Amino acid sequence: MLKDSRARRIDYLRVSVTDRCNLRCIYCMPPGGVPRLSHEEILTYEEILRFVGVAARAGIGKVRLTGGEPLVRKGLPCLVGELASRHPNLDLSLTTNGTLLAEHAGELRRAGLRRVNISIDSLDREKYRMITRGGELNRALEGLEAALEEGLDPVKVNVVTLKHVNEEVEGFAELAWRLPVHVRFIEYMSPCGACDPDLYVSSESIRKKLEALGPLEEAPPPPGAGPAVYFRFPGARGTLGFISPVSSHICGNCNRMRLTADGMLKSCLFSPEEVDIKSLLRSGASEGDILESIRSCLGRKGSGREWAANPSRAMFQVGG
Ligand code: SAM
Ligand code: SF4
Repeated sequence: MLKDSRARRIDYLRVSVTDRCNLRCIYCMPPGGVPRLSHEEILTYEEILRFVGVAARAGIGKVRLTGGEPLVRKGLPCLVGELASRHPNLDLSLTTNGTLLAEHAGELRRAGLRRVNISIDSLDREKYRMITRGGELNRALEGLEAALEEGLDPVKVNVVTLKHVNEEVEGFAELAWRLPVHVRFIEYMSPCGACDPDLYVSSESIRKKLEALGPLEEAPPPPGAGPAVYFRFPGARGTLGFISPVSSHICGNCNRMRLTADGMLKSCLFSPEEVDIKSLLRSGASEGDILESIRSCLGRKGSGREWAANPSRAMFQVGG
């Protein structure tokens, strides 16, 4: 079992498979994008598989593939397939903007993916285009539909709320009424974001807007709920949740570590502490060496709060 310096059990690994993205969300990426990592700089799928193998044998039970946009990297379903067949008990999931999901949902499902999180920040076509700097809402919605049709379960929808930009909740309330999806409103973390900190909106404010539509009841969290709390309108097929990294102290229950696309292991989203796993993997390190590096990284994991105001990397580099 893996534990960190504060005796928190670490059983969740987020793997960023690329820092590239086909969108440029205003809160996540600079308008012109970012200098691309070269092919050699990012971990190969074989390297990711080796690292996940070591981590899984040490007690990691849950792996999420993320990015950048994971589906822009060729062959992602093959990685999913290998992970699922080598680790049948692993809780394997994907976070995607959904715009390429319609083409891949079937293949991903057959490869062994069970569940998916799709980021859709507005259900208004023009607003979605503005937030994503050119994205097409229809494509994300087609991805959502494909995920449901293929039986991925649960399907969660991530919404980062920004003041005066996408605070309207009616569309998402209707979505969670009509479809068995779990909409999660996420507070904007400005220190690792790319837009004005004043655009922050609290979960509390969004919850009040939902309550103005009708009484909400507490709902059981779907599998893999993490730090979100869930509610529903009585009779709805889906739920509405809140992830409040800014207004609530969620770091105390942190159970995760992160592997960046360029092969650095981070014990905290915000922390500058990183362990160079890529160099280890490429220098013929043994499983014991890799495990020791994981433990030493976790041994230096702080409370989270000490770095939150000044994170070392942007969100698209770490994968959320
Ligand atoms: N491209 C994929 C997507 O958009 O789902 C995966 C990577 S994205 C970095 C992972 C999650 O982080 C998304 O749900 C995104 O909305 C969220 N995110 C990005 N920047 C954020 C910020 N500054 N504050 C809060 N959430 C953020
Ligand atoms: Fe790309 Fe996801 Fe960041 Fe949007 S939130 S720019 S889709 S990585």
